[in-house]
Amino acid sequence: MAVMTSSARRPLLNRRLAEFGTTIFAEMSALALSTGSINLGQGFPDTDGPEEVREAAVRALRDGRGNQYPPGPGVPELRAAIAAHQERRYGLTYDPGTEVLVTAGATEAIAATLLALVEPGDEVIALEPYYDSYAACIAMAGGTRVPVTLRPHEETGADGAVRRRFRLDLDELRDAVTDNTRLLLINTPHNPTGTVLTREELTAIAELAVERDLLVVTDEVYEHLVFGGSEHVPLATLPGMRGRTVSIGSAGKTFSFTGWKVGWVTASPDLVTAVRSAKQFLTYVSSGPFQYAVAEALALPDTYFDAFRADMLAKRDLLSAGLAEAGFGVFTPAGTYFVTTDIRPLGVSDGFAFCRALPERAGVVAIPNAVFYDHRDAGAPFVRFAFCKQTSVLEEAVSRLKTLATVA
Ligand code: PMP
Ligand code: GLN
Repeated sequence: MAVMTSSARRPLLNRRLAEFGTTIFAEMSALALSTGSINLGQGFPDTDGPEEVREAAVRALRDGRGNQYPPGPGVPELRAAIAAHQERRYGLTYDPGTEVLVTAGATEAIAATLLALVEPGDEVIALEPYYDSYAACIAMAGGTRVPVTLRPHEETGADGAVRRRFRLDLDELRDAVTDNTRLLLINTPHNPTGTVLTREELTAIAELAVERDLLVVTDEVYEHLVFGGSEHVPLATLPGMRGRTVSIGSAGKTFSFTGWKVGWVTASPDLVTAVRSAKQFLTYVSSGPFQYAVAEALALPDTYFDAFRADMLAKRDLLSAGLAEAGFGVFTPAGTYFVTTDIRPLGVSDGFAFCRALPERAGVVAIPNAVFYDHRDAGAPFVRFAFCKQTSVLEEAVSRLKTLATVA
């Protein structure tokens, strides 16, 4: 029941936010705790990142670096490290003084970017299913979200093997652009589907953005989690995109310190200035000592990034195979640390009901993808499991999930 004030007789929560309620991640993590279930819902690792990075944070704290308000755009060491990372990995050059902004996680980067760039009435095109904060931030900015749905698709690889992935329909994307479209909000590698947009798909997006003179915001927080033959292509590297793209990254995923909340924006000076204008009134600054630690983390040798990816790949394969054996339809992810499944082979089709019952039935928590859709029906039968967990935890989860087929 809505809370009403006695005077105004109107709900406390404003109309823009009323539809969002509590995030699914909070709801499902609470369910995992209260039922003692294995939490494959919210995407956070159950082991911390590299010891030397943790020690770098301790050192910064002890040395009194970052214990008082750091500079608004971020500490110079981190801005330089972000710029160096973009250059080393992708050949993208950004001026650490004017083209890099440190934020309180990617979450604040998304919020500040949308609040800065979107006017009430502007349309924002986002790939559906979309990360939940996109919808809420578009709403807070007064914009209108226009979903373009990624649809399940089977394709046969060069090796003859059949792969299932969620695919972007480029015609649908083109048709979604109107005179009111302000920006395209892209996410690759994509949460929750695990899709990594191909160079061809991204090139088509870039051509559309140039043709229709659109800004593009690209959430690339899983940039280091791309597997097998797939490649991560930053949108900003494509022709015509460097000046119109706001790229968003985060240390949380890459270094397994999701609680530190260190994220960043890289873009041209005018875009960074716009985003900073909003950011300064959200948190002003955050994560002081952690910024120094993340600066060191970004400079880790390639061996760190390679080992991180190899570890997650093994976990992806373990969980994907286990889910298939348990009877789920599996969309083996090309990126991220999530695997989306189809529950219909188990004889059910309501992902919400399935996830609410799963702790009781099997002692495991997962996320219903439907919450990431405006077209709820399109997402109804899909359920997401996170595999950023210890191998023994994944093995136990799989053995529990295998009981589902027998008791269904
Ligand atoms: N974007 C996507 C696609 C995510 O999955 C997440 C969750 N980590 C975020 C942004 C938020 O990242 P952060 O924890 O750095 O705020
Ligand atoms: N990004 C994480 C996920 O998709 C959750 C982050 C959050 O709880 N907001 O699971």
